[in-house]
Amino acid sequence: MNYNPASKKAEEFINHEEILETLEYAQANKNNVELIDQILAKARLKKGLSHREAAVLLDCEIPEKTQEIFELARQIKEEFYGNRIVMFAPLYLSNYCVNGCLYCPYHLKNKHIARKKLTQEEIRREVIALQDMGHKRLALETGEDPVNNPIEYILESIRTIYSIKHKNGAIRRVNVNIAATTVENYRKLKEAGIGTYILFQETYHKESYERLHPTGPKHNYCYHTEAMDRAMEGGIDDVGIGVLFGLELYRYEFAGLLMHAEHLEAVFGVGPHTISVPRLRRADDIDPDEFDNGISDEIFEKIVACIRVAVPYTGMIISTRESKACRERVLKLGISQISGGSRTSVGGYVEEEPEEENSAQFDVSDNRTLDQVVRWLMELGYIPSFCTACYREGRTGDRFMSLCKSGQIQNCCHPNALMTLKEYLEDYAAPETKRIGEALIQKEIGNIPKEKVQEIVRKNLAEIEQGKRDFRF
Ligand code: SF4
Ligand code: SF4
Repeated sequence: MNYNPASKKAEEFINHEEILETLEYAQANKNNVELIDQILAKARLKKGLSHREAAVLLDCEIPEKTQEIFELARQIKEEFYGNRIVMFAPLYLSNYCVNGCLYCPYHLKNKHIARKKLTQEEIRREVIALQDMGHKRLALETGEDPVNNPIEYILESIRTIYSIKHKNGAIRRVNVNIAATTVENYRKLKEAGIGTYILFQETYHKESYERLHPTGPKHNYCYHTEAMDRAMEGGIDDVGIGVLFGLELYRYEFAGLLMHAEHLEAVFGVGPHTISVPRLRRADDIDPDEFDNGISDEIFEKIVACIRVAVPYTGMIISTRESKACRERVLKLGISQISGGSRTSVGGYVEEEPEEENSAQFDVSDNRTLDQVVRWLMELGYIPSFCTACYREGRTGDRFMSLCKSGQIQNCCHPNALMTLKEYLEDYAAPETKRIGEALIQKEIGNIPKEKVQEIVRKNLAEIEQGKRDFRF
């Protein structure tokens, strides 16, 4: 198999030999100051790096150069994403699953986990609970099960979610994380109005992949790896990729992630919308110590920094799998979206599960409420944003990317963050959160470069106080 980023065949665009050569090259050059300086100089142009270049930075062992990588990641984060952090929550619809993934408690053979599937009425109740927290953006999660979770169920659930208007609440963007499927089904998801289609590769290492997915349709490495191509052919132009760090060597996964991004760019002219960086967590039936590729917090930070430097335009997501302390560290280095107040069990927003009925996919490390997370972010100097404007304005795929690349998107993100935060403060915040948020908004209005935009934002903020909602640029 020859390496070819523009190929439609999984083993050609995620090419094992190319990854091995990349890792060798990175090892051979991890102390090569001249090369590392050249790569850093290229990275400072803020147009990204190839997987080989980024792999050298990831392996770099020179402390001063590592500091430069971190510093550059911070600068890129600041320049492209400012101090805004977009908020979202996962919504688990069903944990029925026919696959045999060794690292996930929803695998078919787990007979003691409680199996649940939400009815449309239960989804309504979950969504109302999420709206009452203040969420506007959801990521739908289900196991793969053609009988229990057919595409019609997912489509009906999306329609239900978008239809619920409770008090001032609304879910304005539904991202979907379901198993690899057909072009036809992706087209249906697009028609249902999904935002991003998210699918984690879990591991790019084919042999490990097949071992970790011994049974079920997910066993097919190529079908899974080529899913984003089918999604894009089906018209979904925002896709989110990711791996589960801990399953394989992190250096291998890192190269695979960037090669996947390069492939999408080569074939469709637009890279992934987001990259997620989950790490393996403890869960019912799953002991992370049984997997020997776990990574330390230090390596994790370096991965985040190197991804930020390698693909500046791609959003980066971190979930409540990570602790508050870890989240705080990686926010500075490149994370642009986080979940808050998450429940990883089916039906978990309406009521907490008794222990004997555990249906959760993983143990949450960050157990704070959304309001606590919002307040914490603001105390750290970030603006929690509930913005969903791009998708609703049709700014997706290459339209979104060209706006990003011209730097114009900043003129939308910042005012939208302030206006959606204001909505949150008016409708859901605790008094102290509201006080901190109001002061932050006043300070941040002055950072909007165009005076005309400042004026519009002030007017809209006043109208939000009067009860109007959903302003956006
Ligand atoms: S990771 Fe997904 S496909 Fe695998 S068992 Fe869990 S829910 Fe099923
Ligand atoms: S304006 Fe677009 S890119 Fe910016 S935060 Fe909103 S949805 Fe995201």
